[in-house]
Amino acid sequence: MTILVLNTGSSSVKFALFQLLGESRLAGGIVERIGFEGTKMVYDNHRGDKVHQPVQVRNTGEAVAEITKLLTDKADGVIRDKNQVVAVGHRVVHGGEKITASVIIDRRVKQVIQEYSTLAPLHNPSNLTGIVACEKHFPDIPGVAVFDTAFHTTIPAHAYLYGLPYQMYSEDKIRRYGFHGTSHHYVCHAAADFLSQPADDLKIISCHLGNGCSITAIDRGKSIDTSMGFTPLEGLMMGTRSGDIDPAIIFYLMEHKKLESQQVKELLNKESGLFGLAGIGSSDLRDILAARENGNRLADTAIRTFVYRIKKYLGAYTAALGGLDTIIFTAGIGENAPFIREMVCQNLEGLGIVIDSEKNAAGNQTIREIQHEDSRVNILVIPANEEKEIALQVIKLLFTEK
Ligand code: ADP
Repeated sequence: MTILVLNTGSSSVKFALFQLLGESRLAGGIVERIGFEGTKMVYDNHRGDKVHQPVQVRNTGEAVAEITKLLTDKADGVIRDKNQVVAVGHRVVHGGEKITASVIIDRRVKQVIQEYSTLAPLHNPSNLTGIVACEKHFPDIPGVAVFDTAFHTTIPAHAYLYGLPYQMYSEDKIRRYGFHGTSHHYVCHAAADFLSQPADDLKIISCHLGNGCSITAIDRGKSIDTSMGFTPLEGLMMGTRSGDIDPAIIFYLMEHKKLESQQVKELLNKESGLFGLAGIGSSDLRDILAARENGNRLADTAIRTFVYRIKKYLGAYTAALGGLDTIIFTAGIGENAPFIREMVCQNLEGLGIVIDSEKNAAGNQTIREIQHEDSRVNILVIPANEEKEIALQVIKLLFTEK
């Protein structure tokens, strides 16, 4: 018996198949460039087989059919037929205030996902398309929606409200929602397991540093504040997103530089962050680190700015938590860039944070601790695994005795 996990985007479907018992990953991959030239499937399974091939897929429904075909393929597949899939877990970005935990998908849940499309126009409609495609393809098994916002619904009002007229919240629902919740949730529990301590005993700051970056203060297993806000644009500086800026910059750009709102949106989402500051035509940290090594001063400044923001949030969230036991680094940059982890932790001895440079530099792909023996705070590197968290949520909801 297996669980299929889907993350449906506007032109891609990421998937993973997990064994119900033992929760191990049997296979996974992505169908990408759906609706464009060069649609392809990238896939691997637990035996080490890899597939990288063009596919004839025009929409999400056809992608789900193609994924099933490969999962049940005689040579590369991992199950005999699709009846071995007993549930599908879907990543959904926005559940707003209405859905605060993972739920079995029914008509109401789909309505809520549709409703919050106004707040997550790039994600919720695609997530819903994936759900509808699976209902057609797997009509007899339940679907579970796991929301990026759900983990953050424990954030108290003083942290989720903006200093705006209250009606903007009560009527227009303008507030901090936070994102990457599935990832922060996963690493919080992975840290507790690794430290053999209940999450209920820990004050954690989790740094999800990928193309998108967010940082979350987790008090005894519950998110109490997070850096992304009403949208994923707020907070840390990211690959191409600005993160926090003075909102008056937007009026300035519109009034004095005559930019339209759409242009400002593009600027802040796609042309800012590491990409915009370093100005080397790439948002990939590896390229920016290489440019810095070659003496590019702006690349160096971009990295310092990126790191400084993380440090600032570390301090702020230590205060919000009233102490700190554990820092977690996860996602592409968090897991693979020791230089950034070292810079973030530099000069924080006063907060009880001391990194061990040797342990930090020794890279491998497993969960590991990198604090110095003098450090009061644990510093952990934890590989991100949102798919596994979604599978775990499905198991908890459908297959665990209450
Ligand atoms: P996404 O948010 O799209 O899931 P990832 O978590 O895969 O992104 O993170 C992508 C980021 O991770 C990119 O900025 C990339 O430069 C960075 N990254 C990946 N590997 C390394 C590495 N070895 N060293 C430095 N940065 C890395």
